[in-house]
Amino acid sequence: MPSAEPRIVVLIGPGGTGKGTLAERLIAADPSLWLSRSWTTRPRREGEPDDAYVFVDRETFEAHAASDGFLEWAEFLGNLYGTPVPEPTIDRDVLLEIEIAGARQVLERHPDATVILLLPPSEEVQAARLRGRGDPESHVEARLEEGRREVAHGRQIAHHEVVNEDLEQAVAEILGILDSLRQD
Ligand code: ADP
Ligand code: 5GP
Repeated sequence: MPSAEPRIVVLIGPGGTGKGTLAERLIAADPSLWLSRSWTTRPRREGEPDDAYVFVDRETFEAHAASDGFLEWAEFLGNLYGTPVPEPTIDRDVLLEIEIAGARQVLERHPDATVILLLPPSEEVQAARLRGRGDPESHVEARLEEGRREVAHGRQIAHHEVVNEDLEQAVAEILGILDSLRQD
């Protein structure tokens, strides 16, 4: 059961590792977990669900940031991404799937947040997942390079590391981490 003050769990990791896939699986498996829907200025990818993000233009994003509407926000590969301040009525644990600069901001505001670094089994597998998802080749290169930086910086702040090789196993590992947090 969630405590009175919702726990914050932050999933970070290189693009193409499977963070979005894992996040969806986790909220489907755990009714005590609530997934925050981010805002972004990135255009929707082909085949990406309409509600993967709140897709907005830069002006709308910047106005929301200026009115303190984000818990955290950051620029990643030329686009802005942000977590809207969660509604105070949320009585479940909060799952954020964000990049490193945003995770650092969350830790500053909520030092008791738990950060999980999700890793691909290898860079080759990561690249294949990005290509399989339909990312253009220029994005694949940029995300691989950014991914190396994210792993190095992520290791400085992560409380747990999980390798997403077998999806079921990765889901089970993270559910195990959540269980142990709730027993504290
Ligand atoms: P991220 O959110 O980290 O950028 P995604 O969740 O979009 O990554 O996953 C990238 C691609 O890899 C997607 O096509 C997804 O279906 C696939 N994928 C995710 N996890 C696994 C896994 N364990 N095994 C095989 N494919 C996976
Ligand atoms: P993508 O374009 O692949 O959906 O996301 C690019 C990166 O932005 C990923 O590392 C993803 O976790 C991150 N991201 C998604 N939403 C947010 C957010 O609300 N805040 C921050 N800081 N990063 C986010």
